[in-house]
Amino acid sequence: TVLVVGSVNADLTVRTARIPAPGETVLGGDAVTSPGGKGANQAVAAALAGAPVALIGAVGQDTFRDVALRGLQGAGVNLGGLLTLDAPTGLALITVSAQGENAITVASGANAHLTPAHLPEDLGGVSHLLLQQELPPEVTLHAARQARAAGVPVLLNAAPTRDLPADLLGQVTHLIVNEHELTALRPDGGTLERQAASILARGPQAVTVTLGAQGSLTVTAQGSHRLAAHPVQATDTTGAGDTFCGVLAARLAAGDPLPAALRAAGIAGALACTRPGAQDAMPRWAEVQAVLAP
Ligand code: ADP
Repeated sequence: TVLVVGSVNADLTVRTARIPAPGETVLGGDAVTSPGGKGANQAVAAALAGAPVALIGAVGQDTFRDVALRGLQGAGVNLGGLLTLDAPTGLALITVSAQGENAITVASGANAHLTPAHLPEDLGGVSHLLLQQELPPEVTLHAARQARAAGVPVLLNAAPTRDLPADLLGQVTHLIVNEHELTALRPDGGTLERQAASILARGPQAVTVTLGAQGSLTVTAQGSHRLAAHPVQATDTTGAGDTFCGVLAARLAAGDPLPAALRAAGIAGALACTRPGAQDAMPRWAEVQAVLAP
């Protein structure tokens, strides 16, 4: 089982001619609600890729709860570890302009009320732990420590960009970042390979930098491995990174060697760019397979 300890949100999206300036009111199109949160997104991506997936996270009892859980339930993610806390369900308020820019406000709600005491003591049955940075840092660190103590590999997507404490990085087996997030880690300069290698030296066994339409770069002690993107007509890149991370964990859990798992993750990330939305755009395993072995 892939265990995700991560955020669960409802996304509320409105398209407008432009992003409102401070103090300004802009009329937009119809509000669209969809399930989101990096934890939930990655759990759904992993489940669609065929892995047994469990999620530990928190929601409230409000009306956004059903929206937030829709994709997880649809993908068959085990929600036995889901907590209902006395706080609103996490909500992302997303404004998308006609130019495709977005402005996002996240009300973390129940996600911010999770504590290490909410985590189960026993990680029995878990083969891989998949983490992001949308929960309180002490929760993420506690989960990572528990996994490492149990010999369970820890994949961390260091997103969104925020401080990545050295003690957390020290627990990580495989770090996944995009170019912005890599820069925030202040790697020693030089080529992308050099930068990734300098993060590798801080603890992980593998560092993957996702590069959008440029594919990805992975550095391990064995060397660096560049992977071209699967070419697609990208219409909405929302959730590409989440899809990549979820599918990578799912394929490693299925026993794929790292290069094969990275290839599947890249194809899935590319396919997710061809449809609108985050979870709604994620490919099923059969679609990824059709590209892998046409
Ligand atoms: P994030 O969403 O975190 O910014 P990226 O944009 O780097 O992450 O996307 C993650 C992965 O999804 C990439 O490594 C790549 O494999 C795939 N991907 C993203 N955008 C495209 C694109 N335009 N064309 C093909 N593949 C893409």
